[in-house]
Amino acid sequence: MPSVKTIQFLEQPQKLFIENQWVDTKSNAFFDAINPATGDVLTKLSAANKDDVNDAVSSSRRAFETTWSKDTTPMKRGVLLWKLADLIERDKLIFQELETLDNGKPLNKAIYDVDSTINHFRYYAGWATKIEGSSIPVNTPNKLVYTTREALGVVGLIVPWNFPLMITAWKMAPALACGNCCILKPAEQTSLTALYLAKLIKEAGFPAGTVNVVTGFGAATGQAMTEHMDIDKISFTGSTAVGRKIMEASANSNLKKVSLELGGKSPNVIFKDADLKNILPNMHWTGFYNTGQECSLGSRLYVERPIFNQVIDTIKENAEKLTIGNGMDNPDLGPIVSEQQLNSILSYVDKGINEGADLITGGKRCGGHLSNGYFMTPTLFTHENEKLTIVKEEIFGPVVAASPFDEFNDVVHKANDSKYGLVAAVWTKDLSKAHQFANQVNAGGIWINGYDMFDPAVPFGGFKQSGNGKEMGKSALELYTKEKSVWIAF
Ligand code: ADP
Repeated sequence: MPSVKTIQFLEQPQKLFIENQWVDTKSNAFFDAINPATGDVLTKLSAANKDDVNDAVSSSRRAFETTWSKDTTPMKRGVLLWKLADLIERDKLIFQELETLDNGKPLNKAIYDVDSTINHFRYYAGWATKIEGSSIPVNTPNKLVYTTREALGVVGLIVPWNFPLMITAWKMAPALACGNCCILKPAEQTSLTALYLAKLIKEAGFPAGTVNVVTGFGAATGQAMTEHMDIDKISFTGSTAVGRKIMEASANSNLKKVSLELGGKSPNVIFKDADLKNILPNMHWTGFYNTGQECSLGSRLYVERPIFNQVIDTIKENAEKLTIGNGMDNPDLGPIVSEQQLNSILSYVDKGINEGADLITGGKRCGGHLSNGYFMTPTLFTHENEKLTIVKEEIFGPVVAASPFDEFNDVVHKANDSKYGLVAAVWTKDLSKAHQFANQVNAGGIWINGYDMFDPAVPFGGFKQSGNGKEMGKSALELYTKEKSVWIAF
């Protein structure tokens, strides 16, 4: 059972958060927040339309031109961000429970998301006072040139459903630290933690309009944001297909800046000289964490041939031991976020089988007491055909396609043979080989002898069709500022 406070939150009508007020949508349209573990309706959400988005933009523009960027000093912005982090920490259990009920992830995994969110707000609270320009020596006499870094203005944050709160923090914390106002649109599948966050934004004392939250569908609310002439930037995380639409919308409107964190099909490479005894017991998590709904998971596994069978047997054995269930009961794996997503994953499993890959384990929707929810078993294929759909396309579910390799150049070629370039991992005791791999693989992040290593201070973001721009770390400041050059002739 969730805590009393979480239940009370769910019992309230969920409106839009504009100008620090809870307002009714002008669309008069609503949609259900569904618990993917049971199929039950958690609460009703407002489906914002263009008029609502216009109101949110006007409110944010007003705040940007008055209270926020002009009257709120960098120090004050830092203090507010830190205060927000403290409030999230105070209400950690509510966030954890809302994320579990709404997204399905187990409580003991949702805690990681909430902790990471708190860390992001604290990390960027420190940056608010350190957004500096520079002075530049030039080649003409009697000139002084300096640069300033200024906030962009009104920034739209469009967030996916796999890490709803945490990815919001990746965007909102640096955007606010840099002095922007934000309009947040959570994914329609998982809007609850964004709405609860809005409550705390008001409590922390952010001026009205600094952050507005509009819930709704991508093709309506999201698109109204991406086409808006008075939004200066969209920061998006989600599928490559939608990322492309967002770039088009920018091109066809005001050429707003766009940063994209998109899909992945990340290669996870195990050499025979890796520390197998220590790494194999947890290797299944590199493909199945968050029930596989993570862009950076190692959905393409490459194993040096002499140890291939040993690695596959271990992953199979451990995958089959994972408990699957309602996130509130703390299983190893929760459900898939929606029935639509589950069906999409299962259709990829069918393609894998039909195209000739060997299904080693999983690939099934769970029945029995789990049949009302959107559960499936963790799935492992083996193959030696790089052209398979399950090797090429992002599935966004617990499906790993594993293949043996014979030598370094062969596996580097396979690792790079993808339209994506988000992350790549390599496991070996030979650090020279690991660095060579890092040097030759065209991905935005490389993990050596570890997986899913993240920190607010370390830039994250992909190459190729995995996106552009780096979130996190100092790099994110570039996403939310513009640089101005000032020339003075003496
Ligand atoms: P996923 O594949 O993870 O479901 P999507 O890329 O479909 O991700 O969605 C991620 C976010 O983008 C969600 O908040 C969704 O509502 C939003 N979105 C979907 N389509 C559009 C669109 N055409 N314009 C703007 N936002 C969109």
